[in-house]
Amino acid sequence: MPAGKGKVSEVGEALRLPTADPVVVFAKWCKGCGICVEFCPTKALAMGKEDRPYLLDADRCSSCGMCEIRCPDFAINVTHRKRG
Ligand code: SF4
Ligand code: SF4
Repeated sequence: MPAGKGKVSEVGEALRLPTADPVVVFAKWCKGCGICVEFCPTKALAMGKEDRPYLLDADRCSSCGMCEIRCPDFAINVTHRKRG
C-alpha cells in the first residue's frame, strides 16, 4: 500500500518524527470524538477501528490543516503541506 493511502499513522507513544503520511494521529491522545472528520472540507478523513480517524483518500487531502486546528486534544497533526 502506498504511503498515505487509506490510513493515518498512529503514533501511540511520545512524539516521533513525522512519517511519509500527510496526516498523523497520536492515538493515545485521541478520544474518538470525530470532530476532525466532521470538519474535513474534502471528506478525506473517516472514523475507523476503535473510533480513531484515518485517511480515507490521501489524494483528497488538501493539507488545509482544519483537522489539526479543530482537534481539542492536539491529537492530529498535518505533516506535509501541499503547494500551489
Ligand atoms: S478531533 Fe482529535 S480527538 Fe477528536 S477524533 Fe479527531 S483526532 Fe481524535
Ligand atoms: S488537512 Fe484538511 S483536507 Fe487534509 S485531512 Fe485535515 S481537514 Fe481534511
